[in-house]
Amino acid sequence: MLPGIRDTQLCRLVDGPLMRSLGLRPGVSVPAPLSHPTNARSAALQRRGHERLAEDACERCQRNLGRYQICVHLPDFFSGCCANCLQGGTNSCSLCK
Ligand SMILES: [Zn+2]
Ligand SMILES: [Zn+2]
Repeated sequence: MLPGIRDTQLCRLVDGPLMRSLGLRPGVSVPAPLSHPTNARSAALQRRGHERLAEDACERCQRNLGRYQICVHLPDFFSGCCANCLQGGTNSCSLCK
């Protein structure tokens, strides 16, 4: 649990095991502040979600858009949006339900 954050999905997510580091693209810096809800959700999802590789990645990640090098999502979180699209705030992830 994160103190002070009333975000049920985020709290469930950060209770899970860490799977990987953020894996930012070269030249991309960590979004600040991490306490911002969008940044916190995106970073937590990227660290704990399922990798979607090659043609399984969403359309934006296949075009190398977004700050993370790999497409990571979880079907049960944030409508299935990947962390890259979640960070972009576009709500246009092709994995999104
Ligand atoms: Zn993606
Ligand atoms: Zn996406």
